[in-house]
Order: sequence, then structure tokens, then C-alpha cells
Amino acid sequence: MSSNDTTGRVAVITGASSGIGAATGRALAADGCCVALLARRTGRIQALADELGNGALAISADVTDRDSLVAAAQRVKDELGGADVLVNNAGIMLLGPFTSEQREDSRRMVETNLLGAMTATEVFLDQLKDGGGDLVNISSVAGRTARAGNAGYAATKWGMNGWSEALRQELQPDIRVTVVEPGAVATELTDHITDPAAKRGAEQLYEQLAITADDVADVIAFAVTRPRRMTLNEILLRPTNQPG
Ligand code: NDP
Repeated sequence: MSSNDTTGRVAVITGASSGIGAATGRALAADGCCVALLARRTGRIQALADELGNGALAISADVTDRDSLVAAAQRVKDELGGADVLVNNAGIMLLGPFTSEQREDSRRMVETNLLGAMTATEVFLDQLKDGGGDLVNISSVAGRTARAGNAGYAATKWGMNGWSEALRQELQPDIRVTVVEPGAVATELTDHITDPAAKRGAEQLYEQLAITADDVADVIAFAVTRPRRMTLNEILLRPTNQPG
């Protein structure tokens, strides 16, 4: 057998209401996982859970609110028997110059992208340890490169990479740790940029070269279905025509 059978595994995905998170919900459900879809936009995750069936659960949760994650973990344990896979996907990319005007954007990115992932992991850790789990952290090409105009975002993704490498050494073999670093992906990510020039620039770039959320979801599903004797620890994927 070339893959690890995921039938009956429980996968928790943060930020499952759109983009990569929603696509990952679909991909893991197609591989036989029972999925718990977490996000703030409850209507969206409920519609996706209804579409997927097979016990899929929509749970309203904000990764910056630990109490909501604790409540989500309790529901996953009570209703699905506990999490086997956690995909830390919730994130925002508020590009712009590093100025006082952007300080709220910088704080929100750290709280959501980095602290949100750390909190979700800490809250679900015991469930993941129980029986051989998978932790998938959605970083970015911006976790390996940095440029003017993405300082705050790159800081969160570099932080995620360093944190993930430490967790790899600390948690494996009980929990496999995989970092996924996509380049430009066509999602709602650029919609939330508050700096008009940065938003325009990002939208223009994405129009030219973005890959699809399904492309990334397929890679995530591939990683968690590998035999447990091996781990894809770090996966960098870009649109073929993306230079940096
Ligand atoms: P989307 O904007 O489509 O999705 C972001 C998701 O994060 C939404 O489901 C949103 O749900 C959720 N989210 C945001 N803030 C919170 C919060 N406080 N609590 C819970 N959920 C939250 O963008 P993508 O699918 O592109 O982004 C997913 C991840 O992929 C992010 O971490 C992003 O950094 C990363 N990534 C994206 C790339 C791209 O080019 N698109 C490239 C590299 C990495 P809701 O608003 O309902 O809470």
C-alpha cells in the first residue's frame, strides 16, 4: 500500500470558510476524513458541512479567541471522538508599508497567523497525540523570502516556519509536522488589504499568475496520506511562472 488510509480520521481545518481552507475540507473529505470546519463566517462553513455530509461539523471559532477554540476542541472530542489532523490555515495578508498607520494591520496578522496557529495547536495537542496525528501549518513563500511591503506578513510566516521546525523535533514521531509554503493562490486573501496601493499591486500580480486553492488542497491531502514511516516536513509550491 502506498498511502496512509485516512478513512475515518478526523481533520480539523481553521479558516475553512473560503479559499485554501474550504478546498482542503473538500479534499480531505473526499479522502474519507470526517472534517471539522472552523471559521468566523458560520453560514459559509455550515453550507460546506451540509455539502460534504459524512458527519462534517461546522464550528464557529475565531483563532484569536482561545475560549472559542477550547469550545471547538470540546465539540470535536464529544461529537467526532477527537482530532487526528489539524490544518492551521486561518490567516490574513494585510500588505502595506511598515508605518504607524499600519500598526493595527501588523498586530492583527501576528494575532491571527502566528498566535492563532499556536493557540489552536496547543488546544488540540492532546487529541493529536492520542493515536498518531498530523499537524499541517500553512505558511507561505513569504516564510522563506521577504520584500518591501510585506514585513508584517513575512514576520508571521517566518515565525511559523521556525515554530514548526522546533515542533517537528519536539512532537515527531507522535505527531507529524508539515509546513506548506504556497506562492500566489487565487482566493479572497487580497480582498482584505487596507493599503490601496498594496491592494492594487497584489491584485494585479494575482491576476497574472495565481494557482487555485484546489491545487494547494491536493498537496495537503497528499502529505497527510503518506505512510506514517515518512513525513513531508516542508513543501514549497509556486505558480510555474512566479519568479520570487
Ligand atoms: P482566504 O481569505 O480565502 O481565507 C482565509 C481564511 O482564514 C478564511 O476562511 C477566514 O475565515 C479565516 N480567518 C481569518 N481570520 C480568522 C480568525 N481570526 N479566526 C478564524 N478564521 C479566520 O485566503 P486563503 O485561502 O488564501 O488563506 C489561507 C491561508 O493560506 C492563510 O494562512 C494565508 O496566509 C495562506 N497563504 C495564502 C496564499 C495565497 O496566495 N492565497 C499564499 C500563501 C499562503 P473567516 O473570515 O470566516 O473567519
